[in-house]
Amino acid sequence: MVDLNMGVVQPIKLTLKSRFKFRCHPGVSCFTECCGRTTIILTPYDILRLRQRLGITSGGFLDLYARREQHDKSGLPMVVMDMERYGGHCPFVRPVTGCQVYGDRPASCRYYPIGQGSLITEEGLDEFFFCVKEEHCKGWEEDAEWTIETWRADQGFDLYDEMNREWKTMMLRRAPDGGPVTDERGNNLFYMVAYDLDQFRRFVFKSRFLQIFQVEDEVQERIWDSDEDLLEFGINYLKMALKLEDAKIIGLAPQTREAGV
Ligand code: SF4
Ligand code: SF4
Repeated sequence: MVDLNMGVVQPIKLTLKSRFKFRCHPGVSCFTECCGRTTIILTPYDILRLRQRLGITSGGFLDLYARREQHDKSGLPMVVMDMERYGGHCPFVRPVTGCQVYGDRPASCRYYPIGQGSLITEEGLDEFFFCVKEEHCKGWEEDAEWTIETWRADQGFDLYDEMNREWKTMMLRRAPDGGPVTDERGNNLFYMVAYDLDQFRRFVFKSRFLQIFQVEDEVQERIWDSDEDLLEFGINYLKMALKLEDAKIIGLAPQTREAGV
């Protein structure tokens, strides 16, 4: 189980207009220190981008760089970067040149040192922000000024937020009795669809899936060609197959980066 405690967080809820000073660059004495001793939860879109960047299959990515875990509340499977296998460091960090997958780095790496929380309220999904101030991080001593809004734009976060929103909402669900959303079979289906897109594509096109479900030709073309379209299709399929719309939504979504582990 992953412990989702948020670590060294500042207990102040920030809005898009909140200001902070921060700058990270290769000249800081702590360069790359935040790329180890931490838990990074990989969202389905993170895995999609990373495996495209590396030019490997989703199964290959999961085998080489990831570990399967279980969300402590919904019981749904999660994937974390397997740093243990790489001496406690992210497999993609290098001491001088830093992140080797920078343009496709995971959502939590983009936000850091800002954390993002999601809470279900009566009005719907409430997304908010907070600072993560770890002692080793010297970026807080630098002078560049941001608002959460300009930081998000600079880090290219809109697309990631959009692609991750449905997954996050799924993680907030509980069965009507308050327990896990589904059983082992359902969890394995969720894992394949959300995280192992190549396997899901084979499942759609090589099993009896298309005999059981009517999928328009135009949609079949798109999900054959595009991982992004396949992921969107898969998330909708999961909601239906696991009856997720019947499950309650409560609590906080997983914080995708845990500080100071
Ligand atoms: S993906 Fe890049 S930014 Fe994120 S922990 Fe790894 S090396 Fe650091
Ligand atoms: S610890 Fe902070 S300042 Fe240092 S490399 Fe990481 S984000 Fe940048």
